[in-house]
Amino acid sequence: MPELPEVETILRSMKPALEGQYITSIEVKRPDLRTPFPPGLSTIPLHKTVIQLRRRAKYILIDFQHGWSLLIHLGMSGRLFIDPASQNIPPRRHEHLVIWTNNGHRIGLVDPRRFGMVCLFPTDQEAQQPQLKHLGVEPLLNTFTPERLATLCATTRMPIKNALLDQRKVVGLGNIYVCEALFKARIHPAKAAADLTRKEIRRLHGFVREILQAAIAAGGSTLRDYVRTDGQPGAFQELHLVYGREGEECPVCRSENRHSVIMRIAQSGRSTFFCPHCQKNPHK
Ligand SMILES: [Zn+2]
Repeated sequence: MPELPEVETILRSMKPALEGQYITSIEVKRPDLRTPFPPGLSTIPLHKTVIQLRRRAKYILIDFQHGWSLLIHLGMSGRLFIDPASQNIPPRRHEHLVIWTNNGHRIGLVDPRRFGMVCLFPTDQEAQQPQLKHLGVEPLLNTFTPERLATLCATTRMPIKNALLDQRKVVGLGNIYVCEALFKARIHPAKAAADLTRKEIRRLHGFVREILQAAIAAGGSTLRDYVRTDGQPGAFQELHLVYGREGEECPVCRSENRHSVIMRIAQSGRSTFFCPHCQKNPHK
């Protein structure tokens, strides 16, 4: 599933095709993804200047001049491809939506598993949108401070891994980046969020941002489905230190001449990767 850095990478490459431009045509090739395509999708956004593209959590938002916004969520397997409209693109399998712009771009939404979602709503009703109204703080904005993270952690006994995945607290962090940030911050993933020390909170806050920024700079992580809008994979997966590395030597321990192997445990049904030496179990 694309996480914050992958959605941000896609968003940034869509901006030149759409910002200040307008959509000339939208072709809807099936009635639905996870939810039905909204009525008016192929008419309401047409010929209205796109004011801006934004990201909220893992949602891409396109704001139009006449007060409407289009929301795109890529679900598990959604991809967006941007091609020159003049090029003869061979049909892509599972392409369910195509957007043409006045400046000669063709944007195709491909989603084999169809867990994605497209919504259309008046921009001034954004706060009431069911997908958006319960979302927590954006980790790359200045509103995400160590103090804010401390407050979010102080109120819950849930493991810090699960607390960071809770979109009502902090948005956009998925399994990969939570595992990587906890490893860098040397915090055991099962430690109760409320038990984190001030030092641990500061380290975690810093590494959450550092890892997200590094991942965006690398064009995101490609494990299964995610590709950039030019069809190329991201490169950050090569920089994962623990995610997907069960049984490999911990790079930090190796550099300090210790032997420790990355372990995988399940937390709420999802894999967590960590180093049992660098990230000490709080219960031992
Ligand atoms: Zn280690």
